Amino acid sequence: MTTTTTTTFGWFLETPGAPLVQRELVLPAPSPTEVVVRVRGCGLCHTDLGFASGETPPRHALPLVLGHEIVGDVVAAGDPASPLLRRTVIVPAVLPCGACELCARGRGNACTRQTMPGNDAHGGFAGHVLVAAAPLVAIDPPPEEKDLLSLAVVADAVSTAYQATRRAELLAGDVAIVVGAGGVGGYVAQIARALGASVVAVDVSRQRLDKLAGFGVDRRVAVDGRGVKELRKEIGGIVKDASAPSHRHKIFECSGTPQGQQLAFALLGRASTLVQVGYTPQAVELRLSNLMAHDATVHGSWGCPPEAYAAVLGLIAKGEVAVAPFVEVAPMSRLNELLDDMAHHRLEQRMVLTP
Ligand SMILES: [Zn+2]
Ligand SMILES: [Zn+2]
Repeated sequence: MTTTTTTTFGWFLETPGAPLVQRELVLPAPSPTEVVVRVRGCGLCHTDLGFASGETPPRHALPLVLGHEIVGDVVAAGDPASPLLRRTVIVPAVLPCGACELCARGRGNACTRQTMPGNDAHGGFAGHVLVAAAPLVAIDPPPEEKDLLSLAVVADAVSTAYQATRRAELLAGDVAIVVGAGGVGGYVAQIARALGASVVAVDVSRQRLDKLAGFGVDRRVAVDGRGVKELRKEIGGIVKDASAPSHRHKIFECSGTPQGQQLAFALLGRASTLVQVGYTPQAVELRLSNLMAHDATVHGSWGCPPEAYAAVLGLIAKGEVAVAPFVEVAPMSRLNELLDDMAHHRLEQRMVLTP
């Protein structure tokens, strides 16, 4: 049993709106159910920006080390017989308790006792992180460095996208309409295509849509400042060509904007399904009675249960979902600068930061 503490460093959020501060972090010795992971890379997510800017307070009191898209090596374990020792792992952003009724029903991503690194406890913008062992996902065998580092984003962006397709019960032959095709939405588009759906991607950025074209997403709609009515007409025409009836339309709202949410809702037809994946603190006005009239379904989708990660890694390993081309690696010392870039919409790639 490891009885020693780990002295490392972390990037702390001390004051919302102020730069993060790098300083010493002492992690307690892992309990029998915990391990220490030496961070190889940690992805920078919009949630981190929300915490850092003060828009959304993290659940844990400040100061707190942020970061929840972690890939790294298990260097110490509370259980000396832990099979994870010296393995390379993904630390899922959602770490379910594994013991409650929701966990038993395969809905660990909704577990009320879940923890999230960088939100409930110190996260991955650090040299090391202390986490529960059971939900970790071993990468076997680990790929070469750049591909390995890009797998950090599986911990949130890619797995969240995969879970959204499970939530929608997406099947081959369905039509997946993805509103907001950057980040998570881009992965929803790729995963839906890999699962045999025909995909329509909608975004305000032509650049983002063009990039997805290279990964088989061939139906793309640029918003071009148009309103819901006009967009609905164009998307309706495309979907008609896909010749799947409206009950096979699975709409994914990934933009996390009020406009995107209004469009996604307006696309619902008879017995269609909408999955809300994006986040905005803003409220929108919707006529919920449309759900009644269409006998339609709306789901929320949060994170991804660890047991679904193997399927996600399988799609990546087979080359059916590309991650690395959407990821850029940078040193963690640039964290504050990159948060600023993100706040000013200057990042087109998902950033993975190395300690
Ligand atoms: Zn995230
Ligand atoms: Zn649970």
